[in-house]
Amino acid sequence: MNTVTEYFGCLVFGDAVMREKLPKETYRAMQRTIKNGKRLDLEVANVVANAMKDWAIEKGATHFTHWFQPLTGITAEKHDSFISPNGDGKVIMEFSGKELVRGESDASSFPSGGLRATFEARGYTAWDPTSYAFIKGKTLYIPTAFCSYGGEALDKKTPLLRSMERINKQVLRVLKLFGNDDVTTVNTTVGAEQEYFLITEETYTKRQDLLYTGRTLFGAKSLKGQELDDHYYGSIKPRVAAFMEEVNEELWKLGVLAKTEHNEAAPAQHELAPIFSTTHIACDHNQLIMEVLRNVAKRHGLVCLLHEKPFAGVNGSGKHNNWSISTNTGVNLLEPGETPYENAQFLLFLCAIMQAVDDYQDLLRIAVASAGNDHRLGAGEAPPAVVSIFLGDELNDILEAIETESPYGAKEQELLRVGVHILPKFPKDTTDRNRTSPFAFTGNKFEFRMVGASASISDANVVLNTAVAEVLKGFADRLEAAENFESELHDLIRDTIRSHKRILFNGNGYDDSWITEAERRGLMNLPTTPDALAHFLDEKNIRLFTENAIFSEAELRSRSEIMHENYCKIINIEAVTMIDMAQKEILPAVSRYLKLLSETAVSMKAATTRATTTFETELIDTLSSLNAEAYSKLKTLTRVTSDARTIRDYTARSHFYKDIVIPAMAALRSICDDMETMTAKDMWPMPNYGDLLFGVR
Ligand code: ADP
Ligand code: MG
Repeated sequence: MNTVTEYFGCLVFGDAVMREKLPKETYRAMQRTIKNGKRLDLEVANVVANAMKDWAIEKGATHFTHWFQPLTGITAEKHDSFISPNGDGKVIMEFSGKELVRGESDASSFPSGGLRATFEARGYTAWDPTSYAFIKGKTLYIPTAFCSYGGEALDKKTPLLRSMERINKQVLRVLKLFGNDDVTTVNTTVGAEQEYFLITEETYTKRQDLLYTGRTLFGAKSLKGQELDDHYYGSIKPRVAAFMEEVNEELWKLGVLAKTEHNEAAPAQHELAPIFSTTHIACDHNQLIMEVLRNVAKRHGLVCLLHEKPFAGVNGSGKHNNWSISTNTGVNLLEPGETPYENAQFLLFLCAIMQAVDDYQDLLRIAVASAGNDHRLGAGEAPPAVVSIFLGDELNDILEAIETESPYGAKEQELLRVGVHILPKFPKDTTDRNRTSPFAFTGNKFEFRMVGASASISDANVVLNTAVAEVLKGFADRLEAAENFESELHDLIRDTIRSHKRILFNGNGYDDSWITEAERRGLMNLPTTPDALAHFLDEKNIRLFTENAIFSEAELRSRSEIMHENYCKIINIEAVTMIDMAQKEILPAVSRYLKLLSETAVSMKAATTRATTTFETELIDTLSSLNAEAYSKLKTLTRVTSDARTIRDYTARSHFYKDIVIPAMAALRSICDDMETMTAKDMWPMPNYGDLLFGVR
């Protein structure tokens, strides 16, 4: 097996394998389950399980696992072997339909935000047959959803699948109105571009902050950063190329469509983009991408950092979530059409998205909220914490013409009637012309750029799917009841533009004046996770999720609790790590250096006829007073960190971390970073930013 076309997907129990290994009837039953969500009989499941097992054993597997995505944001697995005793001291390899379809999971240590206590202590995993099983190592992985026995979702996949159902239903209603009777299913599609940093394992293991928190908590700027833009799209170093080659090979075997790789803006930063797929598959695959990046890096003596902001002063890492809607007949509904009717349909979907993003700005911000991503959003290189939409000039002008009922373009003196006139062709330039927008139209899809590099893409897509479904429900209600479809359609589009145009912004999102302007427009600016979470349980948000049966109110409350709790835990770990590093590494190192300087000054004085030893004595003055100041900041941080832990309520505690602990961390860091610039390199207790960012050679 050597060519990519031969080995692509070889570790996946996909369509081709199923066709080959399953009896015809079973294969057809599987197809009905995958395509139409039809329940699989246990008998059929038994046949599938057996075929899966034989195939997996052929590939060297000895175990299987129900693979799921708890609220930690990463994946979880528990391995069971296929062995079963056969009575004579030997074993046979078995795997039943029951084991395939459903797994008991006493996963009581997963975050549940009180749900487990309220409802049911045990959870179970349920096979998701629409996402293919695959082999990793010696284990057969079965993608599953994770629920409580009462049916509450305890994971990131269940709500995503629910949201895909909702949007499917509403888009179909709208498509019917336009006479698209051939379409039977609609899916949202996602291509998630993954950014990451690669550093050497040697430097990584010498830094407690990286080990425990995934980011540097100290570190003076390196002498060179990204100011020359010489890393972005630069030629890939052989060591990194070897890593990428192996990443691709592993991903391709797993059926992941890894497509594009390049160096990103910051030194040591890279990106991997797959070809888009159906949203829940894209979500599963993104989890695999993150895992493969981490594992392969280790084999190359490297460490892959997925944190949103591993280094201060250079770009952080995000995950651009490219999102669109497409039909089972292969039509991308965000592709501008050729005929007046298709154009009107395109505009209607565009307006639905515009309203959804405006109505649920807060939920989109919440979907990407984490302690890590707070450092990135609004830090001058990532989209700001204010949500807005970029459409580009052409599309903006068209919407304006419709909204103001004024002629469009120089030649056309007619008013633009939706559904009657062909829209002027706008160039489908998919290069992102505005990289500062959090939500940009890029020709035939939207790119949501606020998602953090380490996050599951599920949350963002749950919000997008559900919010757009909700708006489309209103649109479909109005249009279905209309006497004159075309004129109602025109009015609906015009009204939506009028009510929601405040969310459109084509300018520079990094500019401070935009924040002022956004506030004037009444848009929400939610710079931190606690600010954002304060809106999670707003009535309109609870209504959106409960009415669309994505989450019950109890599930929402539990998720809000988990997010607060998680934020608090992360900041606490960061604070105690800082305290430890300052107390045991940085301050003592400066002390030792001061001792050396003092001894040197004394012996120099004895050895020289000059009156003063400027370098040593001046440095002793400066450094000793900085070290004293650092010690005082360290004591403050120690005190407030322990104060924080006494606040019982997680909401109140998260605000305390944001308002008191984080500033105390910043104060300590700032002095320590200053001292770093004055201390002999061989006496500084950890690799510096230069070693980290330019260490992979
Ligand atoms: P760029 O954003 O650099 O112009 P592309 O537009 O080719 O590059 O694609 C960026 C990402 O968007 C890729 O992951 C790609 O698979 C994804 N993408 C392209 N078309 C769609 C679509 N219809 N739905 C979802 N994602 C898409
Ligand atoms: Mg892009």
